[in-house]
Amino acid sequence: MSENLVGIDIGGTKILIILINKKGKIIKRIEFPMINKQYKNVLEKILLNLKTFGKFKSIGIGSAGDINSKKGIIRYSPNIPEWKNINLKKYFEKKLKVKTIVDNDANCAAYGSFVLDGKRKNKNLITLTLGTGIGGGIVIDGKLYRGSTGSAGEIGHITINPNGPKCSCGNPGCLEAYIGKKGRISIAKSMGFNKHVSDTKILTEYARNGNKNAIAAFSKIAFYLAVGLHNIIHIFNPDMITFSGGVSNSFDLLKDTLMKELNKFTFKTPLKHVKIRKSNYSKDLGAIGAAYLSRE
Ligand SMILES: [Zn+2]
Repeated sequence: MSENLVGIDIGGTKILIILINKKGKIIKRIEFPMINKQYKNVLEKILLNLKTFGKFKSIGIGSAGDINSKKGIIRYSPNIPEWKNINLKKYFEKKLKVKTIVDNDANCAAYGSFVLDGKRKNKNLITLTLGTGIGGGIVIDGKLYRGSTGSAGEIGHITINPNGPKCSCGNPGCLEAYIGKKGRISIAKSMGFNKHVSDTKILTEYARNGNKNAIAAFSKIAFYLAVGLHNIIHIFNPDMITFSGGVSNSFDLLKDTLMKELNKFTFKTPLKHVKIRKSNYSKDLGAIGAAYLSRE
């Protein structure tokens, strides 16, 4: 029987499908844009691609949003609001007769990071996905922690300031309201960066070229990230915290302020122990982690 595994990352703008072997090496990688969001069309397109993969053992699917991982249902995803209560597990198991699991994309990323970045040795590991939104996944004692209803790990929605700006979830002052895409843009403006910032890439380029306002903006973003990590470290006492997603590529611009702020307030013993770093597998982490989870 083939030991190959399939991992699928369902995003709001694209679908990523990978086939990995037992050792985690990517054998096939297919990406296509999410143009027609009719779920039946998308699932059929995924299915057609999977049929070109030969034999594989199981399928892991990661998606943003509210996922019922026990039943394999996407209850609701903010990136694809057209999809409601879609049972992906049932669909693929019926069509392909292969075990299928579905989980939150940040949970998948955390599990992938536990296997790849943490080499399964860093048993307590937290991953933050720094993108348009801020996702979180928690691995405790080598196992993904999902909570009672599968809702654990919403680190983007911990409250940083109850009087803060409104978050995409409707609440005031979430971590995501500060360091999610919208928050990053407003921080850049407040720090006097007057170029049009549509995403963090532009801000990064300016900061790397020595633009003082862009550097100050990263310092401010790092400050809020530190507030979030401070809470995480005190609750979980993790071995490792990793970052994935687009902004993780700018981690070098965040690191100094982040560590300086943590050193001011966070308890010394857990702070000295925890390794804080960018994931080395950032781009495909969600899909790889989903594939590994399907084998558990
Ligand atoms: Zn929120």
